[in-house]
Amino acid sequence: MDAFYDQGTLVAVLTTQPLDRLLDYRAPEGGCFQGAFVEVPLGPRKVLGVVWGPGKGDFDYAKVRSVIRVLDAVPMRDELRSFLERAGDYTLTPMPAMLRLATRAPGLGEAPSMRRIYRLGEGEPPRLTDARRRVLDVLRDMGGLALTQGELAEAAGVTPSVIKGLAKTGAVREEDAPRDTPFPRLDADYGGKDLAEDQAKAAEVLRAGAASGRYGTVLLKGVTGSGKTEVYLEAVAEALRQGRQALVLLPEIALTAEFLTRVEARFGAKPAEWHSGVTVTERRRVWKQVAQGGAQLVVGARSSLFLPFRDLGLIVVDEEHDTSYKQDEGVLYNARDMAVLRASICSAQVVLASATPSLESWANADAGKYTRLDLTSRFGAAVLPEMRSLDMRGEDLPSNRWVSPTLQAAVRARIAKGEQAMLFLNRRGYAPVTICRACGHQIGCPHCDARMVEHRFLQRLVCHQCGETIPKPETCPSCGAEDKLAAVGPGVERLAEEAAALFPEARLAVLSSDLFGSARALKEEIVRIAEGGADIVIGTQLVAKGHNFPLLTLVGVIDADLGLQGSDLRAAERTFQLMRQVAGRAGRAEKPGVALLQTYQPEHPVIRAILSGDEEGFWKAEAEERRAAGMPPYGRLAGVILSSTDVQEVFDLGNAMARQDAALRRVGAQVYGPAPAPIARVRGRHRVRLLVKAPKGVALQPALAEWAGQFRLKGELRMAIDIDPQNFF
Ligand code: ADP
Ligand code: ZN
Repeated sequence: MDAFYDQGTLVAVLTTQPLDRLLDYRAPEGGCFQGAFVEVPLGPRKVLGVVWGPGKGDFDYAKVRSVIRVLDAVPMRDELRSFLERAGDYTLTPMPAMLRLATRAPGLGEAPSMRRIYRLGEGEPPRLTDARRRVLDVLRDMGGLALTQGELAEAAGVTPSVIKGLAKTGAVREEDAPRDTPFPRLDADYGGKDLAEDQAKAAEVLRAGAASGRYGTVLLKGVTGSGKTEVYLEAVAEALRQGRQALVLLPEIALTAEFLTRVEARFGAKPAEWHSGVTVTERRRVWKQVAQGGAQLVVGARSSLFLPFRDLGLIVVDEEHDTSYKQDEGVLYNARDMAVLRASICSAQVVLASATPSLESWANADAGKYTRLDLTSRFGAAVLPEMRSLDMRGEDLPSNRWVSPTLQAAVRARIAKGEQAMLFLNRRGYAPVTICRACGHQIGCPHCDARMVEHRFLQRLVCHQCGETIPKPETCPSCGAEDKLAAVGPGVERLAEEAAALFPEARLAVLSSDLFGSARALKEEIVRIAEGGADIVIGTQLVAKGHNFPLLTLVGVIDADLGLQGSDLRAAERTFQLMRQVAGRAGRAEKPGVALLQTYQPEHPVIRAILSGDEEGFWKAEAEERRAAGMPPYGRLAGVILSSTDVQEVFDLGNAMARQDAALRRVGAQVYGPAPAPIARVRGRHRVRLLVKAPKGVALQPALAEWAGQFRLKGELRMAIDIDPQNFF
């Protein structure tokens, strides 16, 4: 039982305000539990906080103010408090920022009550204005779900009076509904499939883990289509039977819809959903029900790791190698690693599922820290796609064309058979570079050290760093020449243009994250394609992530060499994963698939490893190189990015940090830099980076904290420390 503080006792409260310490308050009338969510006065304001422990008492008691009220929410459990502390220590994040991650739901303190909601009614209104039609469209899109007036008005871009007017006509129904109701119960034995032999064996291990009540991590490595999802749903079922909660993390919101349908088929009802596409009202409901136990399963994005679970027994990290698990703004954490940390604190099981695990997880399994389970063949009749390289040196291709004759012929053959082909190019927009043919000037972003990328669909040039857009100029901004600006290089939009010319009869679909206004629109397009609504799918890395296209039998990779350029530590690993994932889209159903990789360097060891499918060989070689260089996962890295509008100021600080490195040297760590960051200017701020490299097993974070703590950040200067950096920009 958690500590209880009687009225008037001093308690230390952690708030979400950026202060570097806990604040003492007096417990309110009626007292409060440790972990209670409270409202406290701070200067003239009232702020949210959590009772973190007994007060320090280092402040004049007469001046200590009282907690205003205890909020109507389940107190934060010890388990979550230690998780926040340890995750904060690991990522060097101040506790107020950690608490903000754990309280991302509005109106936490409001009492349960009724609220007015709106759903689709009957008939058409007598007068169908544009605004009214938008409201009805939004409600139809929601598929029967109800929204509050505010949500509906915002989604439809109308004033509340439009909704009121529609409600009077009956086309929209107005109801009172209780807030924050529990989610429907999931039935662990509702719709399990008969598992194949290797699936059943793997499921048995996962089930035993979930039943053990102890911590453990399993790496579930299975080729695409082997039934990893079916298998880990058995672990979810076992957690539910044990009366514990489960969390499934997905790397991409667009994947949730397909997954929810599978959960419903397996457990008879939909689980709770938590990501940025969920309305605030629903988020509040999820947060509360997770704490009360009225949500047994949550499917969500990385931030769902910070939900106040009542009794979390299982965390699945699907596509665990996916780089989007690393949050790269604000609190810099890796959800995969934090999942393992939280599970170890709350005695839960972790399942890391992937066809192409990260080297980190592979090494942890290799070292015996994780249990490894392998599914080596596709389920049922489906076989893995055959993979071949297309040597571009031997292809006859005019300039500004990217689909080789051999690939063209393969695409035509598939379409003739009524099957689908995919052309993969990991570059958004029309062309990566716009150059003036008169003076050679390349159009760059005014705020960043980056080129502007032409997006013909938007008819603008876009900076992929800061999002700045400008209309495509008619004349060269440098020399003023007219009609001399030329697009150089391919993006998916340009590839689509080429495909339309090459295959005029084919129905094309382009999948790129920037072409869809909403996750819902993207989801609908994916369903349409899966049902055969397109002959050729043209896509960026969005298409590599787990979507199921049963008719797809050919994948053509336009530029397999793209990821191999550059000096990124993970270039080989990423290319290997991405190519195998994309190829895995082909032949997921009965028809066998082929993947063709266009490359100028078919002898490159990474390309050879991709084609041969000798994964263990690839991982071993990659691991050996990293071990020899003392690089992760066999050594540790931390990135430091300094930025300011004043270039001199950043370099001065960078140089001072490199000189005053005693705290780091004491633990055997070394500082490299300062050097201009690979993207040396973003949003008008100059960026300088230092890299800290340390042997594995040293206490790096305290040393980093001591080192960085020597420097005061004046004026415009900012410092971000990234533990285990994934990207080197
Ligand atoms: P993965 O997650 O490894 O890519 P999935 O779990 O999505 O694989 O399985 C691929 C396809 O095979 C899915 O359509 C899935 O429903 C089907 N499948 C897998 N295992 C079984 C099974 N034991 N019985 C019936 N269908 C299965
Ligand atoms: Zn920019």
